[in-house]
Amino acid sequence: MVTSAQALKKYGDPTLERNMVVWDVPGHLEMGAIPKKLYCNRDLIGPLSAAFNNLLARGKASELKTWDGCFNIRKKRGLTSMSLHSWGIAIDVNAAWNGLNMTPTLSPEFVKCFTDAGFDWGGTWTRKDGMHFQLKSI
Ligand SMILES: [Zn+2]
Repeated sequence: MVTSAQALKKYGDPTLERNMVVWDVPGHLEMGAIPKKLYCNRDLIGPLSAAFNNLLARGKASELKTWDGCFNIRKKRGLTSMSLHSWGIAIDVNAAWNGLNMTPTLSPEFVKCFTDAGFDWGGTWTRKDGMHFQLKSI
């Protein structure tokens, strides 16, 4: 799993926003809750495109109810280390139904659309974070 120390080493001080780009999401990937433009790390674009493609190809796009953010410089909730959101390599979805330490409601098929595309899912962590997906490697 990618640590904040690895992200810091690769991308530097998150406040400098190096590697951050505005991704104009291709029209064929646009669906209800997905933003048309997304401010994210350039390294997120490939895996996230693949995940969105998986959602469409596997009929899981309608399960994406809310887009709850990507880039956000902050510490992990309740902890001292920086969240990978600080470097734009993590996303949150369906937050209202997948809160921290709650039993996630995302279907295994939905989750697999992301894990097959190169993401780790927070829903399997000891400290469950079911809304959260982050790059498996950087
Ligand atoms: Zn998150």
